[in-house]
Amino acid sequence: MSRAGRIAEVAVPLPVPHTFTYLIPDEYRDAVGRGVQVRVPFGRREIEGFVVDVGAASERKGLKPILKVAPGGAVFDEKMLRLTHWISEYYLVPWGEVLRTALPGGVRHRPGRKLAARAARDPWDVPASGLPREAFHPTAEQTQAIGEILGALGKREYAGFLLFGVTGSGKTEVYLSAAERVLSEGGSALVLVPEISLATQIVGRFRAWFGDRAAVLHSGLTARQRRETWDRAHAGELRVILGARSAVFVPLTDLRLLIVDEEHEGAYKQEEVPRYHARDVAVIRATMERATVVLGSATPSLESMENARRGKYRLLQLSERIEGRMLAKVTVADLREEGKESRAPVLISDLLRRRMRETLDAGGQTILFLNRRGHSTFVQCRDCGHVYKCPQCDVTLTFHLERRFLRCHYCNHVERQVETCPSCRGRRFFYRGAGTQKIEEALREQFPEARVVRLDADTTRRRGSQADLIGAFARGEADILLGTQMVAKGFDFPRVTLVGVLFAEAQLNLPDFRAGERTFQLLTQVAGRAGRGPSPGEVIVQTYIPGSLALAAALEQDYERFFAEESAERRELSYPPFSRLVNVLLDGASESQVAAVAQVVRDRLDAELKKAGARGLILGPAPMPLTRLKGRYRWHLTLKGDGGTKMRSALKSLLEWAESEGPSRRSVRVGLDVDPVTML
Ligand code: ADP
Ligand code: ZN
Repeated sequence: MSRAGRIAEVAVPLPVPHTFTYLIPDEYRDAVGRGVQVRVPFGRREIEGFVVDVGAASERKGLKPILKVAPGGAVFDEKMLRLTHWISEYYLVPWGEVLRTALPGGVRHRPGRKLAARAARDPWDVPASGLPREAFHPTAEQTQAIGEILGALGKREYAGFLLFGVTGSGKTEVYLSAAERVLSEGGSALVLVPEISLATQIVGRFRAWFGDRAAVLHSGLTARQRRETWDRAHAGELRVILGARSAVFVPLTDLRLLIVDEEHEGAYKQEEVPRYHARDVAVIRATMERATVVLGSATPSLESMENARRGKYRLLQLSERIEGRMLAKVTVADLREEGKESRAPVLISDLLRRRMRETLDAGGQTILFLNRRGHSTFVQCRDCGHVYKCPQCDVTLTFHLERRFLRCHYCNHVERQVETCPSCRGRRFFYRGAGTQKIEEALREQFPEARVVRLDADTTRRRGSQADLIGAFARGEADILLGTQMVAKGFDFPRVTLVGVLFAEAQLNLPDFRAGERTFQLLTQVAGRAGRGPSPGEVIVQTYIPGSLALAAALEQDYERFFAEESAERRELSYPPFSRLVNVLLDGASESQVAAVAQVVRDRLDAELKKAGARGLILGPAPMPLTRLKGRYRWHLTLKGDGGTKMRSALKSLLEWAESEGPSRRSVRVGLDVDPVTML
C-alpha cells in the first residue's frame, strides 16, 4: 500500500442516513479495521463512531483524520456488523445508532482485558427452581415438540418454529431440553423474555439445569458487569444468556439456538430510535447464523401465526396442560346487570365477592387484575364538570392516594390536588376511573382480614421491591395479589385458584388496530394464572361487553376463533399481517407548523412512491391519538404497502430529503417507525 494513505467509513450515532469517510493516520494503520470504535471530528465537535469499512484513499481531498482508536481491536465481529447493517436497512435507521444500541452499556469497550479468574458474581440472585433435570419426564406432546427441534438442530441449518402451547403446558421444559442438546454439543443458546424483572421463574429453571453456564442480562447490572457478561459470552465461557430486547445483540460464540418466549409481547419493540423488533431481529439473526429459532406463546401474534400458516415457521402445539390440569373455568360477571342497582360504578361484583370469600375461607390465593394504576384515572368537579388535565399532554391526570397528588402517566408532571376547583371554586369532586389503589381501598373495607399485595409501577419503584412482593405472595404470605399487567404474565403459583379481571375492556377501545388482539392476549394470559396446582381454577371476568370478539374468544379460551375472525377483518382492511405499515412520525412545538409540514411530507412521500414505482396507500396526515405529549404536538402519516424494496427505497429518499433540505432542518422532527407496534 502506498503512503497515499487509507480511509475508513465511519458510522456515527446521529440521525443521518449515511456513513462518513475519514483518513486513517499512519500511527493507526494497523489498529483500524472493521468493527473498531473510533473518535472522529464532526463539525465542531468530536464524537464516537464505528468503522464499518476500510479502503485505499481516493482522490477526495479535505478528508479529516480519525483522532483516536479504542484499544483492543474490533468491538463488533463480522456477524454483528452484518446483523446491525440489516437492521439499519430494514428499519431505516442510521447504522451508527444501531451499533451504539448494540454495544453493552453504550460505552467504550475494553476487550482483550484479562478476564477475572474468578467468575464475576451474578448480582441477579435467583435460586434454582422448578423441576430438576432428573425429574423431567416429557409428556407425549413435549416429546414430539422436542424431537422436531432436536432434528432441526442436528442439521445445522436455519429453522424456525412457532411453539403454540396453552398456559401451563410446559413450554419452558421444551426450551430447556433444546438448550441442553445445544450445550452438550458445544454450542450456545440465547433466550429472550419480554421483561427480565418478570422472568424470575424462567430464570430459576435455567439456573436449575445449567448453573453457572447461564447468565442473565438485566437493567440492574452496571455497565462493567454487562461488558463482562458479553466478553464471557464471546469467549465461550457462558453458554446461555437470558435477557430482554437488547440481549439479541449478545455475541455468543457458536450460537445455535434462539428462543423468544412470549413472542407476542409488544415489549420486544423498542419505541425509540432505533425502533427495532427484537423477535424479528432474532429470526434474522438465526437465518444469518444458520441457527434454530423457537418463538413461544400461548397466544401467538397474528403475524407469527400467519407465518406458520404460510409455512415460514413450523408449528408445534402443546394443547394440554401438564398432568391433565384443566384450564380454568371462566365466568362472566356482567356489569350491566350488576350496575342497575347502584349508581356508582361497580368495582367488585357480587359474584366475584362471593368467590373471593370462599377462596379466602378455603385458604386459597386470589389474583386480581386491573390494568390501571393509581387511585382514579381522572378527577372531576361535581359542580362545573371541570376535569384535571396535564398541561403538557392530551390526557387526564391520575389521582394518587398516598399524598393526594395528581400525576401525568406520560410525562410525570405532578400537581398537588387543589381543594377548590380552579374554574368554579367548587369543593366537591368525583373520583372516576378506578385504579389499583382504589381497589385496594375497597378490599381493605370488604375483606379486612385478607393480606393484600399490590403490584404496579408505584409499588415497585424501588429496586428489588418487585421481587420482594412476588416472593411474599409465592411463599403464601399474602392472600390476594392485586395489580396491573405485571400480575398477568408468566407466574406459576400453584395455590392460586381464583383470578378476577376487574374491567376486561380497559384496553379495548383504544384507537389502535391491535387493541382487540392485545385484550385477547392479556385476558388469556391472566386466565392462565389460575388452576396451575392440583385444585382447579376459576376466572371471573367483569365486563360491560361480553359479546365482543376479543372478550368472547378469551372467555372460551378459543385462540382459533379469535385468529380466524380477527384475521378476516385485518385482511379486509389490509392491516398486518396482510400488509406492512410504516408510520411517519412528525412532532414539533407548534401545532400549525407540524400540520403544515405533515402535508408537505405527504406530498413528497407520494412523489417518492411514484418515482420508485411502489404501490402504497398513505393515510393521513392526522394528529396521533395522543396528540400532545410532553409539550410536543404529534402528527403522523401511515403508509400501508407490501414492504418491498421499492417502498423501502421511496422511504429512504424521503428521509434523505427530510434531513438535507426538508423539514428536519427546521423545527419539526420527522421519524419513521417500521412495523409499528403501537399506533398511539
Ligand atoms: P408454560 O410456560 O407453557 O405456561 P410451564 O413451562 O410454566 O408452562 O410449565 C408449567 C408447570 O409444569 C411448571 O411448574 C413445570 O415445571 C411443570 N412441568 C412441565 N413439564 C412437565 C412434565 N413433563 N412433568 C411434570 N411437570 C412438568
Ligand atoms: Zn403529561
